[in-house]
Formats: sequence, structure tokens, C-alpha cells
Amino acid sequence: MRVTVLGCGASGGVPLLGCDCAVCHSPDPRDRRRRSSVLVEQGATRLLIDASPDLRAQLLDAQVTRIDAVLFSHAHADHCHGIDDLRLICRAMDTAVPAYGDAETLAELARRFGYAFEAKTTSWFRPALEPRTVNGPFAVAGATVRPFPQNHGPTMVTLGFRIGPFAYSTDVSDLDDDAFAALEGVETWVVDCQSIEPSYVHSHLERALGWIERVRPRRAVLTHMGHDFAYAALANRLPEGVEPGYDGLELVMEDGR
Ligand SMILES: [Zn+2]
Ligand SMILES: [Zn+2]
Ligand SMILES: [Zn+2]
Repeated sequence: MRVTVLGCGASGGVPLLGCDCAVCHSPDPRDRRRRSSVLVEQGATRLLIDASPDLRAQLLDAQVTRIDAVLFSHAHADHCHGIDDLRLICRAMDTAVPAYGDAETLAELARRFGYAFEAKTTSWFRPALEPRTVNGPFAVAGATVRPFPQNHGPTMVTLGFRIGPFAYSTDVSDLDDDAFAALEGVETWVVDCQSIEPSYVHSHLERALGWIERVRPRRAVLTHMGHDFAYAALANRLPEGVEPGYDGLELVMEDGR
């Protein structure tokens, strides 16, 4: 199994427009963060998690022209406003693409991007997405996906995803026992770490490290990072087995299908 971090930035990306801080002016390419999204490849199966506003550039860089499905963690703009770029995927594959999310997320996507769910055939002009409501574990193109709810602030729920040896937890402020059960035995975990200071809607460094200590993955990768973090300085202060993500990072693991 191979996972590519297509983007590991917070909602505004890094550099943040108009910001004068050192990280936003860093010459290190690992400090340039597109909005968060990952590509999961298990055998011939390719799953995209979230359609960030930077999706076109992300798919070009990763040379992705086909996917078996797109999984949405939630409907915040930084996770779905690249949805229109999926029309080129549908066009290249000449088929509709299943779009998985919880009922609330799919309803919000249908409200905001109705045209993407109405198409029966592919075209240059719009994506053709087939909504698939997630109520529990599901199989897609031979891969088994175990979704688990995560708190994203006091009023919002996002889906984390466990796929074999891999798990993805973006946009999360709290994890309950069911989430920790879903994460049990995970080999590689990509997890939200937006900032240094605590946040109501996201995980911050201390919280993320606490969760990692409890989950004990072989490898933990921080994502959804804002401009608090310079890659090199952060990498130096993290415990063994924990690292900051960067755009283009490839994570390879034994296939746990
Ligand atoms: Zn986000
Ligand atoms: Zn900045
Ligand atoms: Zn969010």
C-alpha cells in the first residue's frame, strides 16, 4: 500500500496570503503546503480522500488520471472546493466516480455542487459523481474502508478513515473510544496538527502527540499544518516515529488487505 500526501496545509494553505512571518517566506519547499488531501493506493485500487481547492495541481504532480472513488471527510471548503477538477478524472475514465461521505456531508455537497451529482454521463463541463452514503464500513474496488466519526469542534463531525494498515484523521479536535478502537494496531497514521496553541476545532501539537502516544503507530505523520510550523525545526523536536508531513510525501506500508 502506498499513500501520497497531496497536501498537508491548513485551510488557508502555507504561505498564507498576506502574511509576513518567517514560515510563509521560508525557502524550504517543505514549508509550502497545499490544502489537505491524500491519495491511497492499495494494489490497483486508488482512493482520493478529499478534493482540496488545490486539487488540479495536486493531481498533476501525482500524475493521477483515474481514481476508483473519492471519500469526503466533511464539507468544509478546504476539503471539497476542488470538486470541479474531478470532471477531468471522470472524462479521462469515461465513467462516473463514486463519492463517499456521511449523510450530512453529501447533502451539503449536493446543495453547493448539485451540478456535479446530476450528470448521468461524463462531459468536459461537469464532474459526474455518484453519492454513496457512509453508515459503517464499506468496500470499494476491493479495498475495505472503516470510517469513524471524529469531533471537529463542538458542533461538527468529520469522518476519519481506516484502510488496512493506514488511517487518516484530519480536522479533529477530539477522538472518542470508538475512534481509538478503529485506530488500534494502525501502522501509519496521518493526523491533524494545525497549530502550537490549542484550538476548539483542530488538534494542536501537544494533543496530537498525546493521541500518538496512546495509538502507538509505527509511523505518525502530522498534517493540516498552519504557519506555526517550519518543517525542519518541527522535525527536529518530534519524538521518534513522528514526523511532519510535506506535500508529495509517499508513505509505503505492507498491504494489510
Ligand atoms: Zn480543514
Ligand atoms: Zn505566516
Ligand atoms: Zn474542517
